Amino acid sequence: MESFIQLDQVPDGLLDVRANELHRLLAGPALIHLTGRRPSPLFVSILLHGNETTGLGAVQAVLKKYAGQPLPRSLSIFIGNVQAARLGLRRLDHQLDFNRIWPGHEQAPCVETAMAQTVFDEMAQRGVFVSIDVHNNTGANPHYACLDRLDEQTLQLAVMFGRLMIHSTCPKGTQSGAFARLCPSVTLECGKPGQPFGTEHAVEFIDSCLHLADIPQSRPPLQDMDLLRSIAQVTVRGEVRFSYSDTHADLLLRKQLDRLNFTELSPGEILGYLNGAAPALPLIARDAEGRDVAPDYFCIEGNKLMMKKSAIPSMITLDEHIIRQDCLCYLMERIVAAPLLEAG
Ligand SMILES: [Zn+2]
Repeated sequence: MESFIQLDQVPDGLLDVRANELHRLLAGPALIHLTGRRPSPLFVSILLHGNETTGLGAVQAVLKKYAGQPLPRSLSIFIGNVQAARLGLRRLDHQLDFNRIWPGHEQAPCVETAMAQTVFDEMAQRGVFVSIDVHNNTGANPHYACLDRLDEQTLQLAVMFGRLMIHSTCPKGTQSGAFARLCPSVTLECGKPGQPFGTEHAVEFIDSCLHLADIPQSRPPLQDMDLLRSIAQVTVRGEVRFSYSDTHADLLLRKQLDRLNFTELSPGEILGYLNGAAPALPLIARDAEGRDVAPDYFCIEGNKLMMKKSAIPSMITLDEHIIRQDCLCYLMERIVAAPLLEAG
């Protein structure tokens, strides 16, 4: 049951509530419209993943800043998975992932996809200016923006957050993928939840967007951007028991694997150790077309699982539950200037 409510003011108590207490104010997802000086709204979605709380802290700080004075631009805030936030989880086991339900998704139609469609239609009708989806991740990662498109305005928006950006068109059904059809759209990855620097960075970005009159139509200088392309999402095969600590697991992942995030891995880099002589790869790596490219990137030598080809991983997490619910990591490669110029 994921119907949602729309409000045109901030509910009492929202500015100070913790993510795990939000359910006392809101029974479920909410879309809040606040009027500002410029009419076309900035859209900010938070808590699409219930354990990723930086977006809530950032929105609270922005709203406190403008308490008693008009916002420079209208602001629509979508508060996503309140029920999962109550328990500090990405999603509840019976729920769909709230960042896989937006127009363009590959789910069977259901209440969650209907909700996302309604939010999308509402924001389209209001002439959305820019869309921001605020996330955290669970491993050691720098802050970066994810973008679905490489047009000039989207790059200008991303570079306002930082030089590190990832171009990705999968998985399907993400918020930023859907809104990229309507306006410049980014996902902000703000490090681990609870880090004050992550909140400050998101606040600064949201506030800058509220002040923008428009976004330049020219591409930012290439030297200001560190642009990576997502190649594939890596998951562990369903039948494979994996662990970072249990030496009897089918796949024993290398300790502190998340320290490899955003480093260029060379062929031969060890990712883990296999128990027993299973010759099949324990990993699946789906590219944007859904093909399994794991055999291109990984190989087994003796009992070692290693890289076969160079790639840059991101979002490697040490949280075994997240690995099962979402993925082990993404593989990326650097985008050089030429394809970027073509894509622009
Ligand atoms: Zn997330």
